[in-house]
Amino acid sequence: MEQMLKRTWAEIDLDALSHNYETLRRRAGTKMLGVVKADAYGHGALWVGRTLEKLGAAYLAVANLDEARELRKGGITAPILIFGHTPEEYVPLLIAHRITQTVSCEAKAAAYSQAAAACGGTLQVHLKVDTGMSRLGFLCAAEQFEEGVAAAVRSCALPNLHVEGIFTHFAVSDETDAESEAFTREQYDLFCRFVSALEARGISFALRHCANSGAVANYPEMALDMVRPGILLYGCGQGAERLGLRPVMRLKTAVSTIKTLPAGTSVSYGRTYRTKAPTRLGVLPIGYADGLLRCLSNRCAFYAGDGIAPQLGRICMDMCMVDLTDRPEVQVGSEVEIFGIHNRADKLADIAGTIPYELTCAVNKRVPRVFLKDGKAVGTELRMYL
Ligand SMILES: *Cc1c(COP(=O)(O)O)cnc(C)c1O
Repeated sequence: MEQMLKRTWAEIDLDALSHNYETLRRRAGTKMLGVVKADAYGHGALWVGRTLEKLGAAYLAVANLDEARELRKGGITAPILIFGHTPEEYVPLLIAHRITQTVSCEAKAAAYSQAAAACGGTLQVHLKVDTGMSRLGFLCAAEQFEEGVAAAVRSCALPNLHVEGIFTHFAVSDETDAESEAFTREQYDLFCRFVSALEARGISFALRHCANSGAVANYPEMALDMVRPGILLYGCGQGAERLGLRPVMRLKTAVSTIKTLPAGTSVSYGRTYRTKAPTRLGVLPIGYADGLLRCLSNRCAFYAGDGIAPQLGRICMDMCMVDLTDRPEVQVGSEVEIFGIHNRADKLADIAGTIPYELTCAVNKRVPRVFLKDGKAVGTELRMYL
């Protein structure tokens, strides 16, 4: 553990998480569902889930049953919604653990209803409406509207299901060009018309929700009964800086070796970098197997000492090199921030041609998580069995 902690680690700032939660809650002015799927975007689902539960989150959401059970096993009692599909044979488990399941079509509603009846229980569900994402949900665009409403009405009438909520998901709420804005408004209008049509048939929902992070940032008027931010809770993504949100994860490593190379020396696999002058080269014990994307090779810089250290040559599986020529204050053992506060994941993701979600999710099990509160470590999670 000592050894692992001194190599490469991810600090998870729970105070930043609380700050982001409160900022988003005030902005939305409604109930909060915290999205903690994929191990809370790599931050650690249990620590994040417990923190959000303490802050008063109305709901947590995950992608699948295993993730939901991890939360329950960790003592979380808040309502949990599964966004994805769960095969109907697991309905008894869903009921036993009080987990809310998404229902994306009439056939699934029927299968869940039957399975719940067979075990003598009631399954709590939220209906999912496909308003333009073309992923999960009851179809309801244009000529499919009436059939979609009818299918939802029949689903709601099935025995052993308690339909608590209804939701949809936006495709481009985080993009601010005119076409994206028009599309998001159309999705929202369609969702509202769908819900109204059901209400006109006497079906009402305690929780109507549609706003992901992009919508909380750009369309707070679409908050309805509950919002579902993920990436903004973690202080990344479109609008995070503008809203004053703080990055929760700081991926760090410590310099393992420093040496000076003469001009004209090639660095790393493929010899893609050659020193232009005598170079003070630092070796960092972090590579693509830790989640540092190889496509960032020769294109990024990290934060060390009082400033930036450009990355040199190909990123290897377990190591990479940086230029410390202008950073004489950096010594063997000095901390380097790969991404975090000084070097935002958003910026690194831009360089890699991806989104910050992928960067935090990529931080793998070789990297221990260190949880911070009031600037002090309150827990450590190793992801390897030692
Ligand atoms: C992942 C997800 C979210 C959260 O998305 P962010 O962009 O991280 O805010 C919300 N709703 C659904 C259905 C999701 O799958």
